[in-house]
Amino acid sequence: MTTYDRGMSEPEHRHVLPADMISVEEARARILAHFASLEAVSTPLLGALGQVLAEDVRGGFDIPPLANTSMDGYAVRAEDTTGATPGDPRQLRVTGYLAAGSVYEGSVGPGEAVRIMTGAPLPDGADAIVPFEETDEEEQSTRWEDAPRAEVRIDVAAAHGANVRPAGEDVREGELVLPAGTILGPAQIGVLASLGLGSVTAIRRPRVAVLSTGDELLRPGEPLRPGAIYDSNGFSLASMVREMGAEPIVLDIAGDSVEALTARVHEGLADADLLVTSAGVSRGDFDVVKEVLAREGEVGFWTVRMRPGKPLAFGTFSAGEGSERRVVPHLGLPGNPVSAMMTFELFGRPAVFTMLGKPQAWERPLVRAISGERISRPDERRFYARAIVERRNGRYHARLTGPQGSGVLTSFALANGIAIVPEDAPPVEPGDEVEVMLIDRVSEAAP
Ligand code: AMP
Ligand code: MG
Repeated sequence: MTTYDRGMSEPEHRHVLPADMISVEEARARILAHFASLEAVSTPLLGALGQVLAEDVRGGFDIPPLANTSMDGYAVRAEDTTGATPGDPRQLRVTGYLAAGSVYEGSVGPGEAVRIMTGAPLPDGADAIVPFEETDEEEQSTRWEDAPRAEVRIDVAAAHGANVRPAGEDVREGELVLPAGTILGPAQIGVLASLGLGSVTAIRRPRVAVLSTGDELLRPGEPLRPGAIYDSNGFSLASMVREMGAEPIVLDIAGDSVEALTARVHEGLADADLLVTSAGVSRGDFDVVKEVLAREGEVGFWTVRMRPGKPLAFGTFSAGEGSERRVVPHLGLPGNPVSAMMTFELFGRPAVFTMLGKPQAWERPLVRAISGERISRPDERRFYARAIVERRNGRYHARLTGPQGSGVLTSFALANGIAIVPEDAPPVEPGDEVEVMLIDRVSEAAP
């Protein structure tokens, strides 16, 4: 923490240090310098969904282990069916029955067939499967289980290997199946299961402590009282953490007292890889949060050239004792609900993804959309506007969700995109293109 606002010895002066406005990119680069991929741990298979695989995974055996049938039917020697047609069928002796899950004891000799269910291993001697549809199976009036038949009529010639899945068709023993670094989605989790693995070594989920601060805050569910508001940041931020695949630790609200806040911060540090606080970081006004942050850790208060969300604190705390000592980064977000979410999107998300071992995956898709209205920057800062994006005739169209005040959280709830008006750009006029970061799916609008 030597690159900015340094000096732990003078925390009381920290917030009056002249700080130049820094760009979003500069703030992000400073923050990301403090993050790295977390360690790999053994993780139960389903728990690893979305995580990054930390070891090469090879096939321990062929999949399927044995050649098997892909159809319900009769296992035969293909040569016994040569020339068979509905007008000139072959009759074979049925010598056995085989369900999936068992191996046939005997073998299929000339003129013989074994009734076989999908997935069952191909019996010795047989080299093809004739599906039920190409036999007299469907003409039978009794169930096989009640009256096994001694013969079967084959109406269609089977080629050698017909309807047989060869051993190792999916995976060969020893083959590299999933390399380290693979992001585990449903198909990858399924493949790991097919290899018989109950757990896998994956980068663990970061634990992110989320702390709301302010005497005015109430927990949702409590009765409203004059002067108070409900804590929404704790919930929106914890939801973002969970959506990223990390584990939120929601701390109890800290009032604006040094004692309460200090206690909460220590509680958060005990178990967290990142501490996220909201409110109390704006410049100029006295705030207990700043005092505690500066006293308990090493922290910089920045003015970021963005709107909403200009004030931002970032620092580190040291947690634990002796060999357990760790450095825990701290991200101090502005209190306004829209600012808190927007700054967590731009700074918290990259940090969390870096810890998840997916440093390239945090960026959202950027598209160019036609603006349906004028979007002007209220000031010299880069403007991130909540927008509704649709696709019409193969093009993206964007319009704002409504009032853009940093306390208007409902207009974030309507947004599937964030329109970005750069700091050096003129206002966007109706019909102009504007860059939009997609934060949710885009639907196709009627032309
Ligand atoms: P502050 O950063 O403390 O000046 O707070 C800025 C604004 O955000 C104030 O209107 C606060 O009441 C509001 N605010 C702070 N924390 C929260 C929170 N957790 N949930 C909702 N609003 C908040
Ligand atoms: Mg406050």
